[in-house]
Amino acid sequence: MALAFTQCIEETCGRKQDPKKNAHQCAYCGGLLEVKYEFDPFDPEVLRSAWHQRRLSGEPIDRSGVWRFRELLPFVRPDDRIISLSEGSTPLVGTRRAGWWAGPVHLTIKHQGNNPTGSFKDLGMTACITRAVSLGVRVVACASTGNTSSSMAAYASRAGMKAILFVPYRQISAAKLAQALDFGALVIEVGDTFDQAFHLLREIAAEMDFYLVNSINPFRIEGQKTIVAEMMEQRAWRPPDYIVVPGGNLGNASAIGKGLRELKELGLIEKVPRVVVIQAAGANPFYRTLATGSRELLAVDHPDTEATAIRIGHPANWKKAQRVLEWTGGFCESVTDEEIFEAKAALAEDGVGCEPASAATVAGVRKLVRAGKIERHADVLAVLTGHQLKDTDYVMRHRSSEQECRQRLRVEPNLEALRKALESVLAVPA
Ligand SMILES: *Cc1c(COP(=O)(O)O)cnc(C)c1O
Ligand SMILES: [Zn+2]
Repeated sequence: MALAFTQCIEETCGRKQDPKKNAHQCAYCGGLLEVKYEFDPFDPEVLRSAWHQRRLSGEPIDRSGVWRFRELLPFVRPDDRIISLSEGSTPLVGTRRAGWWAGPVHLTIKHQGNNPTGSFKDLGMTACITRAVSLGVRVVACASTGNTSSSMAAYASRAGMKAILFVPYRQISAAKLAQALDFGALVIEVGDTFDQAFHLLREIAAEMDFYLVNSINPFRIEGQKTIVAEMMEQRAWRPPDYIVVPGGNLGNASAIGKGLRELKELGLIEKVPRVVVIQAAGANPFYRTLATGSRELLAVDHPDTEATAIRIGHPANWKKAQRVLEWTGGFCESVTDEEIFEAKAALAEDGVGCEPASAATVAGVRKLVRAGKIERHADVLAVLTGHQLKDTDYVMRHRSSEQECRQRLRVEPNLEALRKALESVLAVPA
């Protein structure tokens, strides 16, 4: 069995921590922690074929896109109770119009909206709640822009734990709030921004001994990193040139980088794709920090974007994400809400729906191709992080009056009126 431990990521510290502790920060310097392993030596072929075989199994943990790759998660012991909702195993979808619009590039979508609660957060949550169960935790808490809370509420419910979530007042979409309430979570609406809610939660969680499941929890990252194994397997272990993700708290970018690093170390991939992070222009602290070469985070105090899942001004995981970009030769770009809107429309033309934050990826690719930073016809994999139905208000808010006239007719309930109405719209060439 591989050896698992947690370790501080700060270069000046790097101390190993007591793995039995429920800690999210270094006990010595307050730095972020990372889960590390001394892996047993594997034969890559044997591992690949075991993972492949499990897809045919009827066992729930073999069918989970996270636990199917459990050799990468050896913090779990054989007698641990795994809390799974059959997360992961999401599709890779090719695009035509969106790839043309954004490049032209060979654009493939990894759609994480196809998860039990509709976002990639489920990959991290299954790992983190499984860990919480093994520690005997009764109460879990998070601050959230919405999707972490939907996911936490579902997994906590399944594990029989109390879930408490902190959300900025009136800043999360109705669908996300409804999911959390449906799963019986306690919802505390506090502050105007995610950052404010998160700050308060960190203080109170220490005091009241809640188990924090925000992405500073290193076990969230462990679950989320398995997306890399899954996508490589789907691509017959041929890595793309770029993996593009939206960046909020930067847990996802950190997880993808960690996954790539471990697959490389285990000899499962040769080439490492560049990891590209896209932020919304009104909430782009990571972009600013990298663009100016600052050694400190240039936080954004009043983050503002309609892509609420990435409306974050003080990303907790920025140092982890920065290391990922350095190690993979990746970069960060920033796009306007207008550009995000256009990208979402381009994806819709391929029949692919997603929430606004996810579409930021494709908007970013377009911008980077135009700037010559991504070459034309490159092999680009964009991670769409959340489901279309997570934010239907956004869609309704953005409909032009011209679209409404073409697409939405109110008709008197008689055949005569129906005929007239249909003829009037169908006569106009599409
Ligand atoms: C959480 C979330 C993000 C941001 O991910 P981070 O790990 O916080 O950078 C992006 N899109 C969606 C849909 C999300 O739920
Ligand atoms: Zn430390």
